[in-house]
Amino acid sequence: MAVRKLQCIPPAVRSVRTGIAAALPKQTKAIYLSPEWRGLISRLLAQRGRRCEVCGRTGCRIFGDHIHELKDGGAPLDPGNIRLLCGSCHSGKTARVRAIRTRETLTR
Ligand SMILES: [Zn+2]
Repeated sequence: MAVRKLQCIPPAVRSVRTGIAAALPKQTKAIYLSPEWRGLISRLLAQRGRRCEVCGRTGCRIFGDHIHELKDGGAPLDPGNIRLLCGSCHSGKTARVRAIRTRETLTR
């Protein structure tokens, strides 16, 4: 019986290394590191309680969310423009607003 070696043939489609370009590090806007922002959020948490103002969730990290986002001209330090949200509600809201902003940009 003849023994035949399997031959490796090159793939028809070249592979591409997608991991070459590293993602840019997330940049935190200076306002979110400022003592004014941190003080405002501390006061709002004390006044309103440490719970999500949308779903009522407690016992989790609470984010200060700009109702009218800074990119859209929202007031950065106006308590009336800030809602306290859990991570899930904050991510969902941010994604919805981003999608609307992108759609509006594309239809201009
Ligand atoms: Zn929530």
